[in-house]
Amino acid sequence: MADINAQENGENAPLLSTTSQPVPAPRGAWVRIVVPVGLTVVFAIAAILAFALPRAQLPILDRVGVVDTHIDLPLLLRMFYKNDINQFDMRATMPGHVDIARLRTGHVGGVFWSVFVPCSAELGKDEGPDFMIPTYRVRDTLEQIDITKLMIDEYPDVFEYATTAKGMRAAMSSGKVASLIGVEGGHQLENSLGVLRMYYELGARYMTLTHTCNNAFADSAGIGATPTPLHGGLSPFGVELIYEMNRLGMMVDISHVSDDTAIQAFNVSRAPLLFSHSSSRAVHNVRRNVPDSILELIGEGEGKKDAVVMVIFAPDFVADKDKADVKAVADHVVHIAHIAGPRHVGIGSDYDGITSVPQGLEDVSKYPALFEELRSRGWDDTMLAGLAQYNLLRVFEGVEKTAMEMRWEGVKPAMALYDKRADLLDEIDSFFE
Ligand SMILES: [Zn+2]
Repeated sequence: MADINAQENGENAPLLSTTSQPVPAPRGAWVRIVVPVGLTVVFAIAAILAFALPRAQLPILDRVGVVDTHIDLPLLLRMFYKNDINQFDMRATMPGHVDIARLRTGHVGGVFWSVFVPCSAELGKDEGPDFMIPTYRVRDTLEQIDITKLMIDEYPDVFEYATTAKGMRAAMSSGKVASLIGVEGGHQLENSLGVLRMYYELGARYMTLTHTCNNAFADSAGIGATPTPLHGGLSPFGVELIYEMNRLGMMVDISHVSDDTAIQAFNVSRAPLLFSHSSSRAVHNVRRNVPDSILELIGEGEGKKDAVVMVIFAPDFVADKDKADVKAVADHVVHIAHIAGPRHVGIGSDYDGITSVPQGLEDVSKYPALFEELRSRGWDDTMLAGLAQYNLLRVFEGVEKTAMEMRWEGVKPAMALYDKRADLLDEIDSFFE
């Protein structure tokens, strides 16, 4: 029966055969095993050819969009359009360096929109030696946050509001420009950690410790002439500020600060640090750029702290007059990568916050020129992807992780008051007398 069945059912026949001739059996087995396995391999190779290889061959920015941590469009919207969402059209050509068409051409994946209000000295105003003469900075910062959110909401097919690294990744993977908020100066807190917490609630995910003026928290590098240090770096209140930013999960930005402030921030901050828009002082010697001695503090080894330096395009910080171009900006990227490592450099252009631009990097459509320049100098896809976004995302995630750890440890919010706050420290007492 077996043989009859075998003959009727040729597929099983060799296996059931009692003959001593083994030839048909292995041949059939090979066919049954080799053909499916072979087909699987062929399909797998075809799948790789169909998807992986062409994708790998795509220019890096087609796969990994650029995240720029410092664009001043909200300031332009304030100055040109008085924060009126009906007065401008991002789908048309905008007057500055940024609009939707140019964001697309430039392969922009994410932006930290800077909500900036000048410090008093920049406005020619005096806020007193203790920074206690009232200003409208909190109002104006809230208006900057407001117009940023209105702008994001106005173009939901283009922008996606994000407040986490995960949210950034999700926005970018759906083809949107991840849109986050950064505050550009501790002066915008008007000396209050409560204001800091409310900015966080409103979406701010980094704050620069100073702008070009000293403030109650820290000393600034100034602009041009360095202001006389007030605290020798961070004040005790500034140390409290960094603690609270760590606890909240807000990136501590040490662009604009004095060297002493930056060095002390490396010691004080539990979380990784951000330079949202700074370049290399060794390449171009201005105080706003980061010296090698501070770049050497950056890293993941013993005695080092994770950080990322987002290279600024402001021509005065890039090169001598009329010398700023895409090659000069690349020099900064390469030098920072050489000293701190290629995992510690990114892009923070300052577009819409600068009145002139490097040749070849005229607006947000031109980022690819920088990547091409670096590729011509031997930068591979991993290094370029780090520059584009991964280095910043790692630092942001490190800051989020620190905040989570501090919450788990049950640490309390910082309740430090500015010691010149007569309204809370003196007036209340006298009120009840
Ligand atoms: Zn700035």
